[in-house]
Amino acid sequence: MPCHPARARELLGKGKAAVYRRYPFTIILKDREGGDVQPVAFKVDPGSRTSGIVMVADFKRGKRVIWAAELEHRGQVIKKKLLARRQQRRGRRHRKTRYRKPRFLNRRKEKGWLPPSLLSRIQNIATWLIRLHRFAPIVSISQELVRFDTQLMENPDISGVEYQQGELQGYEVREYLLEKWGRKCAYCGITGVPLEIEHIIPKTRNGSNRVSNLTIACHDCNQEKGNQTATEFGYPHIQAQAKKPMQDAAAVNSTRWALYDWFKSTGLPVEVGTGGRTKYNRTRQGYYKAHWTDAACVGESGQDVFIHAQHTPLLIKATGRQSRQMCRVDRYGFPRTKPKQSRTVHGFQTGDVVRAIVPKGKNAGTHIGRVVVRAMGSFRVGKADGINWKRCQSVHKNDGYEYSG
Ligand SMILES: [Zn+2]
Repeated sequence: MPCHPARARELLGKGKAAVYRRYPFTIILKDREGGDVQPVAFKVDPGSRTSGIVMVADFKRGKRVIWAAELEHRGQVIKKKLLARRQQRRGRRHRKTRYRKPRFLNRRKEKGWLPPSLLSRIQNIATWLIRLHRFAPIVSISQELVRFDTQLMENPDISGVEYQQGELQGYEVREYLLEKWGRKCAYCGITGVPLEIEHIIPKTRNGSNRVSNLTIACHDCNQEKGNQTATEFGYPHIQAQAKKPMQDAAAVNSTRWALYDWFKSTGLPVEVGTGGRTKYNRTRQGYYKAHWTDAACVGESGQDVFIHAQHTPLLIKATGRQSRQMCRVDRYGFPRTKPKQSRTVHGFQTGDVVRAIVPKGKNAGTHIGRVVVRAMGSFRVGKADGINWKRCQSVHKNDGYEYSG
């Protein structure tokens, strides 16, 4: 059960607990088993570059964020590497060498196939759920699934008291419109000013409140347009564009749905929320915008979550485990190393966190950081290069992630 850092220090100081793991910092109690645990929820706001992950415990006095992290994905890196591989292969095949019969063309993608860059995002989050599940009594999952709830937006009266009261629905509609109209005034194109929801056919002339009759405009344009329709105001294309639904809104992010399917397969109850609701919960509770604060505010359970003002998230960066590429290639695309060769040198691997104590020389002092190994035994620790492997002590084995914060 996650506890307060002060309590952990006390337990460690009195020798009642030992350090079990550095990242995430975990201690293990020596003198007892079990004890008081509260149900913990795993909440996630999946993003394309960074995802927010938090654990929220349900104490008697209310819900409270007890652990938070921002997980940086490596989607772009994977995309770049695969592109390089594709170009090398293409170059090799187009080289005029010998005739090869074409391979048959019935190769197709498996059902549920996702591009490797998207798959890695899902696997990162899955890895962290599995890891945290080992250390904390996680009983439920909350995920932001879609950015806007298009169905509830179009039919405000189908369910939910917040929707009927209109406040939450307002958030959904506003987020949708901002996205649809590119976060700028639909008439003059100005950005960086407060934008207002604007009726294309004015309400005074029987224009409806449906999203197909709404756009966003700056205050000046809204005033100037007054009682005219968009066409009369000189913008017939806006009236036409408003009728079309936004492409992405319905066909949401396949990654999020794939993640949702994976969550369901774990057997834990999964709560889903929309981006509109997340923002509504976050602004109502007065938390600043970050991936992890968003994660804490996901879904219905995110409406009353306590976040301590000084809470800082653990920053996690996915670095990969070098498990996909079979061997390194030279710049012409030919194999340079043996397939899957071991990269361990004297028990250390590139990516391990080590502590190096160097008594003298240019690197004299203590260095803690990520190690880069070389076969000859001269390592780089953090920024200090040329440290003998005998000076290094393992702190945390490479687990595919880098940590800071
Ligand atoms: Zn304007």
